[in-house]
Amino acid sequence: MFKWFGKVNFAPFTKVTDFAQYLKDGRLMGSRCRPCGATSFPPRADCGVCMSGDFEFFEMNGRARLHTYTKIVAAPTGFEEVTPYTVGVADLEEGGRLLAWIGETIPEEEIEIGMELQVVPRIFEELEEIKVYYSLEKPGTKWSKTDSR
Ligand SMILES: [Zn+2]
Repeated sequence: MFKWFGKVNFAPFTKVTDFAQYLKDGRLMGSRCRPCGATSFPPRADCGVCMSGDFEFFEMNGRARLHTYTKIVAAPTGFEEVTPYTVGVADLEEGGRLLAWIGETIPEEEIEIGMELQVVPRIFEELEEIKVYYSLEKPGTKWSKTDSR
């Protein structure tokens, strides 16, 4: 599994192994604590509320609202060639917040704080390693490889 991340892992066991397969399948997963029900995105093996290590993955609907956004003109190393681009911070309906690219389904002039969004995982299919990023798209945008079968 960890070869997909381009890293060697010497731990014989991890509670979050399944997450790598979910990413490969293009599924958007959060974690839910079994004892207290707290949810987290990105998923966490140990609950930040009650400290329990008993959790399960659940598939998130990815519905979100735009909390804030910014247009990047002076990019960090590695992103110079794609400027300018716009990133947003989205509040997920099912809990959690993420920073992601604003995708091509949303023209710049339509970007508005509070607007409804769909979080979409994007996988670089041509690599064996997992390179995933998330984009923020218009509600109703389809993406899941498992849904499309
Ligand atoms: Zn908990």
